[in-house]
Amino acid sequence: MSDTSEVAREILKDRFGFDQFKPGQEDVIGHLLSGHSAAAVFPTGGGKSLCYQLPALALPGLTVVVSPLIALMKDQVDALGALGIGAVRLDSSLDKDAYRDAMEGIRRGRISLVYVAPERFNNERFREFIQAQKIALFAVDEAHCISEWGHNFRPDYLKLAQFAKTAGAERVFALTATATPDVLDEMCRLFAIDPECAVRTGFYRANLSLHVRATHPSSRDVALLDELNSHPPGPTIIYVTVQKSAERVAEFLRQSGRDAKAYHAGMSAEERAATQEWFFPCQAGIVVATIAFGMGIDKSDIRYVHHYNLAKSFEGLSQEIGRAGRDGKPSRCVTFYCPEDLVTLENFVLGDTPTLAAVRSFLDDIFSQGDQLELALHSLSAAHDIRILVLRTLLVYLELEGLIEGGTPIYTSYRFIPQVSSTEILSAYENDRRPFLSELFKLSKKGRTWFTLDAANAASALGVDRLAVVRALDELAERGFFELEAKSVKHRFTVLRRPQDQGALGQALFSRLCQREERDIQRLEDVVQLLQSDQCIVNALAEYFGERRTQPCGHCSVCLQEDRGQFRFCDVDPDFEWPDFRAIALIAPQVLATPRSLARFLCGINSPAISKARLKKNDSFGLLAALPFDQVLAQVGKAKGGLDDVKIAK
Ligand code: ADP
Ligand code: MG
Repeated sequence: MSDTSEVAREILKDRFGFDQFKPGQEDVIGHLLSGHSAAAVFPTGGGKSLCYQLPALALPGLTVVVSPLIALMKDQVDALGALGIGAVRLDSSLDKDAYRDAMEGIRRGRISLVYVAPERFNNERFREFIQAQKIALFAVDEAHCISEWGHNFRPDYLKLAQFAKTAGAERVFALTATATPDVLDEMCRLFAIDPECAVRTGFYRANLSLHVRATHPSSRDVALLDELNSHPPGPTIIYVTVQKSAERVAEFLRQSGRDAKAYHAGMSAEERAATQEWFFPCQAGIVVATIAFGMGIDKSDIRYVHHYNLAKSFEGLSQEIGRAGRDGKPSRCVTFYCPEDLVTLENFVLGDTPTLAAVRSFLDDIFSQGDQLELALHSLSAAHDIRILVLRTLLVYLELEGLIEGGTPIYTSYRFIPQVSSTEILSAYENDRRPFLSELFKLSKKGRTWFTLDAANAASALGVDRLAVVRALDELAERGFFELEAKSVKHRFTVLRRPQDQGALGQALFSRLCQREERDIQRLEDVVQLLQSDQCIVNALAEYFGERRTQPCGHCSVCLQEDRGQFRFCDVDPDFEWPDFRAIALIAPQVLATPRSLARFLCGINSPAISKARLKKNDSFGLLAALPFDQVLAQVGKAKGGLDDVKIAK
């Protein structure tokens, strides 16, 4: 251990130019260098990246970094490049030359770190390539996503743990800024990390002061301006829930003489990059953003992080406010609370839960086929009215139940643009290879710009294995003869056994999705509780993340006994006149057959079937969008008038 720590210190100084480790770094790096897998829960800005970057230099072999924020990893890769460290980001933004160079660099060991998005592991060409390398370290950022009970479960992550094992990664490093004690346990279990090698550092940051103002939608702008006016200007982020608000609030602030820009997923990549670049050196600029902003930026002097709209969980709140004051100087965070926000946020959660009937028809579909399944998620989603992410979750559930087993997805068809003439391509190959390639070209269909090729059909026509076709295409692309893209993907599963009681399974899966929904709704309500409670806000947050603090922070709204304003509820007026549910259900009797689907429609919550039937344009879509979903659902459920449907669980 002392040897490894000496090596680590040397690299820290010589290669990164830092004199000291930040809290937790040395422990994590020590575990990794001595051959163990490890986990880290450090707050945002805590220096998690160094924990894999440093070992990447010390260990022989490749370090693979999986991050869902791959698009924002450019800065890291550039910074490593400037330090003379070979790092590359493999994503769809790379052109073919850059991609080829990257592969070549990895093969020759010039590259020590490769950054990829989790989805990349669905690409069988990539899997094959990366599996063939010696993986010294497999680092997974945002690793809390592996936990089904965490705030951001991503089914892909369960597959990552599997991949690390099958690819023979020598050690795994799971890192995150936010994990409750339960979620950390689950991370360790699923990635096979000894809990002794899980390092958690303190969450508390004395320089952040947390405040709450209860407001009304009509007076919130004024409250915000008031807040901004009563403090010296400084770099500011204001979080909102929806894109429209980002635009509107930014405009309002500009009209009030502030330098403000919007930032959200509806803007083009260039516009967003321009906003980030504008903000980075800014001394007084304001960015009004949906949650996507700030993930990848390393700006240490952000003085204010305000929540114009409610954060959707403790995890979200602590990550977002964690972007303030990384330089350690005093920074202020204010939440402007309106109960109306809760309705909007709940609607996001509620849109994910399918009806019981939908889950059942999905199961019928899956288990009425043969043992080898090839599923196209888009058509499944439309056929059963289940969102794609939820379908993938259901498939993972079935895998965890041991009913089905996932295989490598197949890219059923490829498309390509030849970069030179076919004669020229063929002349670059040996004689015995030419007939195969020439046949392959003949089997490709020419469109306006692209040629398409169905790999399976081509393979059977040529009497070879499908992988032989895929490899040939791959090689053509690598040699620069083709610009190649996978066109459509089918997810492969083998049915291991069929459920004994499919009805009960459907009910169980549905309940599980309802539980997730309840938990997510509970998370929202926890935030509201926190804002209203009489406990020190900082301590309540810390406790949730497993840190016990005995002293109150002394400078939050509660500790300072500030006037937090009037907290309201958002209940339906008892005299409210409910619409004629039966008449509305008749707009589309097939789609709006169950109370849940009708309530969704009335609350303006989209679903694959609603889109498909073009119901979003209907006047009644979103008719009750301002009302809490559970109250609408309860009312629809109570309505007499022969809504003939499946019994609902909620
Ligand atoms: P996280 O991913 O945990 O949010 P980062 O890895 O992005 O944090 O690190 C935040 C900042 O801290 C970066 O600018 C990084 O260069 C810097 N940093 C990391 N380790 C050290 C260290 N030992 N000494 C000084 N600065 C460090
Ligand atoms: Mg990070």
